[in-house]
Amino acid sequence: SPPVVAIDGPAGTGKSSVSGALAERLNAGLLDTGAMYRVATLAVLRAGVNVDDADAVYGVVARVRVQVTTAPTDQQVLMGDEDVTAEIRSATVTANVSAVSAIPAVREQLVALQRGAVGDVLTVVEGRDIGTVVFPDAPLKIFLTASAAARADRRHRQNVDAGRDSDYDEVLAAVERRDHLDSTRAVSPLRAAADAVVVDTSESTKEQVIDRLESLVRD
Ligand code: C5P
Repeated sequence: SPPVVAIDGPAGTGKSSVSGALAERLNAGLLDTGAMYRVATLAVLRAGVNVDDADAVYGVVARVRVQVTTAPTDQQVLMGDEDVTAEIRSATVTANVSAVSAIPAVREQLVALQRGAVGDVLTVVEGRDIGTVVFPDAPLKIFLTASAAARADRRHRQNVDAGRDSDYDEVLAAVERRDHLDSTRAVSPLRAAADAVVVDTSESTKEQVIDRLESLVRD
């Protein structure tokens, strides 16, 4: 089986920061699969294509070169030769990424890229369907959860810390909308694999979650 720690879960569970810190502690690689769906979405938006037109969306995505670095620090995301590391986090990309990632042909292309990105080096792979679809044979699968309120609260504080305008109720509504779209899509919906360890992060600090995951890996 591939040397993968699969980490899945919805937005706002602390998944990205916990995955990055875990990869650093383990001296492992880190693969952020959400970044790939975000690049695909940015390409579609730049092309001026309607995200609900599956054929047109795939037409754009099939032609775009997506690259995500796998060192746990200073992650870089490229669309063609362009560094889009910051731009893929914009509210517009975030609002449209669930529609793009619901298209089966888009998922097939990016899943192939994800599988190809993992070699013999231990890699923490984070996403929504890593334990269920991308690496179903991963020796350790973790599913992070948290209440919608806790997740919205984290996102809201991240926005405020980053100096962005943020309204808690709007953040909560956006988080709930994206979860709903991600968990109800026909292909590879967000869900915990039957053999995943479910970790609820609502009442935990980031350090506590990382310690818990590290002990699961080292067991
Ligand atoms: O993790 P992040 O919030 O960056 O993911 C952005 C979006 O990409 C998710 O809301 C989901 O629609 C999609 N995604 C996915 N499968 C993955 C990773 C992300 O469908 N493995």
